[in-house]
Amino acid sequence: MNVLQLADAPELHVDARPLPAPDHTSAPFWALAAAGSLVFQRCTACGAAQFYPRPLCILCAGAVEWEEASGEGTVHTFTVVRQNLAPPFGDLGPYVVAMVELAEGPRMLSNLTHVEPDDVRVGLPVTAYAVRVDDELAIPFWRPSEAR
Ligand SMILES: [Zn+2]
Repeated sequence: MNVLQLADAPELHVDARPLPAPDHTSAPFWALAAAGSLVFQRCTACGAAQFYPRPLCILCAGAVEWEEASGEGTVHTFTVVRQNLAPPFGDLGPYVVAMVELAEGPRMLSNLTHVEPDDVRVGLPVTAYAVRVDDELAIPFWRPSEAR
């Protein structure tokens, strides 16, 4: 299932941002994101869900496996960045950094786009999408669900 709709979003300047450097633990997340899937980890021993990627379950040290998320979530908390002098973020204008709670439970830190910062609120329903950097990398972002 491809829950990550690819969007062309030059205004996000993804090419100029510091890009992820996938390691052994996070590489599956990025490879699956490039293929259109948003995933998190679930413990095979206790069933706990977790994100960001880790080698083992943070609750019981059990083995983890990847599980596909629905791509739906809500804003758990957020901040509006109004000044960031590091390129290219200074070109973005005020932007929203949000901790999104997935429908499945884990939380992801990301940018929330397609919304005026003053219109963001805790509990806002959001939907994941992705912006492709190249054949091997796509960056997940979130936008209000009604903006789909
Ligand atoms: Zn566990």
